[in-house]
Amino acid sequence: MKQIAILTILVLGSLLFSTCSKSPGGGVNIFSINDDIELGAKVKAEIEADPVTYPIIPDDAAHKYEYDYIKAMRNKILASGQVTLKDKFLWEIKIIKDDNTLNAFCTPGGYIYIYTGLIKYLSNGDELAGVLGHEIAHADLRHSTDAMTTQYGIGILFEIVLGKNQGMLTEIAKNLLTLQYSKTNESQADEYSVNYLSGTTYNCAGAAGFFEKLIAEGSGSNTPDFLSTHPNPENRVENINKDATAQGCKKGAVDLSDYATFKSKF
Ligand SMILES: [Zn+2]
Repeated sequence: MKQIAILTILVLGSLLFSTCSKSPGGGVNIFSINDDIELGAKVKAEIEADPVTYPIIPDDAAHKYEYDYIKAMRNKILASGQVTLKDKFLWEIKIIKDDNTLNAFCTPGGYIYIYTGLIKYLSNGDELAGVLGHEIAHADLRHSTDAMTTQYGIGILFEIVLGKNQGMLTEIAKNLLTLQYSKTNESQADEYSVNYLSGTTYNCAGAAGFFEKLIAEGSGSNTPDFLSTHPNPENRVENINKDATAQGCKKGAVDLSDYATFKSKF
C-alpha cells in the first residue's frame, strides 16, 4: 500500500513530504538513503553472483597491489571533505577483468566497479581519480536511483528493496552499463569530480584528461556512462577545465610512475 501511496504522490506532482528529499540534481528523490544502501547491496550481490557478465578480480593477497592502489585513491577522494555520504555508504570498490570495456559504474549506495579496459586506456592517476570522482558523485548525489527510477519505475525499485521481484533485480544488475543518466546529472557528476579532487593532491581536472584522449583519438564507438553523447565530450572538457580554474587547481599528473606500475598488473 505504501508503494501505491508513493506512486500517487509522484503522479500528483512535485509535492514535498517529509520522507522525500530534494536531490541535488534538482529532482525529488523519494528513496531514503537507507533505501539506496539496501538496493545497492542487492544489486552488488547479483553482480557478484554473475561472473560471466562481471568477471571480478578477487580482492585477495594475490591482487594486493592493485587493490591497495585503487583503495588509496578512493580514500583520498573520500577524505577530501566534499563527499556528503562519505560515512553512510561503504564505498566498496571492485575491478572487473575485461580489457575491451572502457567503463566504470557505481550502484546506488556506493558500490563502485572499474574495468581493466579503462585502467589500461588512461595515462595517469589523475585521469583515473577524475573518473572515480565522477562515479562517486553519481552515488553521493543519488543520481543512480534517479536513473533507475526513470528506467524501471519506482514501484519495481521498492519491490526489490523489500526483497521481492528477483527477476527484475537480475535484469537491472545485468544492464548496469546501459543505465542512462540525464544530461544534468552527467554535468553535475563532472562538476563534483572537480570539487572532490580539489581536496586531494590529484589534478582536479583529471576527468577532462579522459575526454581529451577520446577526442584526440576520434573514439566513440561505444557509449559508456561518462562518455555518453550528452553533453558532448568537447563541452565536458571545457566545463571541467573551467571549474578547475575557478577552484585554483594546479595542472599536472602526480603519480606517473605509480600509475604505470599499477597498469602493468593487468
Ligand atoms: Zn556519469
